[in-house]
Amino acid sequence: MHCTRREAAAQVTAVALLLLGCCALVVLRFLPRALPRNAGAAGPDLLLLVNAENPLAESFAPGELAELSNGHRVDARALPDLEAMFADMEAAGLSPLICSSYRTQEKQAALFANKVERVRAANPGLSEQDAEKEAARWVARPGTSEHQTGLALDIVSLQNQNLDESQEETAEFQWLAEHSWEYGFILRYPEDKSAVTGIGYEPWHFRYVGREAASAIRESGLCLEEWLDTV
Ligand SMILES: [Zn+2]
Repeated sequence: MHCTRREAAAQVTAVALLLLGCCALVVLRFLPRALPRNAGAAGPDLLLLVNAENPLAESFAPGELAELSNGHRVDARALPDLEAMFADMEAAGLSPLICSSYRTQEKQAALFANKVERVRAANPGLSEQDAEKEAARWVARPGTSEHQTGLALDIVSLQNQNLDESQEETAEFQWLAEHSWEYGFILRYPEDKSAVTGIGYEPWHFRYVGREAASAIRESGLCLEEWLDTV
């Protein structure tokens, strides 16, 4: 029995469709699957405790970092809240300025070494160990700075860029002290908690923990070390 021309054409079409289908399957099989944005770089726990007693592992690597227009880098998860907070501050007529953000271990080591050198220059009689101890009151030893996580920011007033207690007088600090928790940030080293945190009062260092935790920490009146003990 002979195929009519129409039947032959139908067979050719069927074979062609089958081949196309196979090709499509092969192509789909080898296409990369859509990856979640933070795949492999989800970053540290937002509640990660970093201090002198809880240093970061040598192998610590931050999560995905977002670069801000001024070159500063922060954990990408903090970016939407940070942008919202700055937009609201600027709308209120304020001029906040980020003066420190993510730091590498090497950068922290260089800052610490510089501080030790300055302490020794001011106190030539101090032993290396005592000079380091004194320096550590002001600059965290490498591995113990929250800045290495990408979750900490030093925020000052554009009009007062001194990292000292005079920040407390600025309208920017007063706004942040009142509202930063609404955007997931906490004042990490409050004046009355330095015995617990081991760090002097820093009315410029804010730590991102996410909105839920920031709200709970604010309500508790505790610092991060104390609050983590309660959850
Ligand atoms: Zn800081």
